[in-house]
Amino acid sequence: MLDRRALIAMILTSPVMPMAARASTPAIVATTGMIADLARRITGAEVQAIFGPGVDPHGHRPTRTDILALSRGDLILHNGLNLEAQLTDLLTDMATQTRVLAVAESIDPGLLLNDPAYAGFPDPHVWMDPTLWSTAAQAIAAALSDMGYPGDLAANTQALLDDLAALDNYARTAIASIPEPARVLITAHDAFNYLGRAYGLEVQGIQGISTESEAGVARMQELVTLIRDRQVPAVFVESSVTDRSVRALIEGAAGAGMIVATGGELFSDAMGPEGSYEGTYLGMMDHNITTIAAALGGDVPGRGMSGKLAM
Ligand SMILES: [Zn+2]
Repeated sequence: MLDRRALIAMILTSPVMPMAARASTPAIVATTGMIADLARRITGAEVQAIFGPGVDPHGHRPTRTDILALSRGDLILHNGLNLEAQLTDLLTDMATQTRVLAVAESIDPGLLLNDPAYAGFPDPHVWMDPTLWSTAAQAIAAALSDMGYPGDLAANTQALLDDLAALDNYARTAIASIPEPARVLITAHDAFNYLGRAYGLEVQGIQGISTESEAGVARMQELVTLIRDRQVPAVFVESSVTDRSVRALIEGAAGAGMIVATGGELFSDAMGPEGSYEGTYLGMMDHNITTIAAALGGDVPGRGMSGKLAM
């Protein structure tokens, strides 16, 4: 079997589609759905995301199909900040002959948080703060404009930025409506720290909890104590992460005589089903914010900021 580097080299050097045969509109390919959605809004064109709904970008290893899809892009958009950890070599190789933009790396490093999972590295989950994500949107718009991408990029970008500002406003009001002690977000992995910082939610990730390890038992007790002291009514599962640790925590709390509910499923590192409102960045975040606020005792409209949620 070919090793991955050899496969990449083979695909990159094979004449899949000669430059001259390409359509005049540059092709855009993105890694995550959240990035593809920004590019869709800015261009008004379809943009392929190689990570579909439910895919974990931290661990996903590039397939031959992914490599082919990326190799067809005139502009490759990825998150960066080591989110797509398994794609680093591939993207570095591709950057020698194609425009590659790490959208999250356009954000002022002073605004980044540290990754709780990897000391010394920035937390890559910047899309969880709509204000930071609007910086990423502007970086994409600038790259497209540089390439001479056709269409009304400026008007489309402004409409997108207006939506992101409305989302930010909604999130602020929704989270502020949660009774102060219950403003604690307990989820499977550490994806929500930017959301927490932006809107005043304490965030606790429980990934790695195992009832067999001593560290796991200690962490579990810490979280059960937090749930009791703050009267936290719910904890949350994520669409792209196993719910094992969340179930273990709910059982642990039950063992200590506390009933804590599953507050619902959040979209952390991937969006909802393609073609649905939740399958857009705006819809994904509306879903998350509305689900969190409703489950923690806040006052939010049942179908979210614009009445479009499927809940
Ligand atoms: Zn993540």
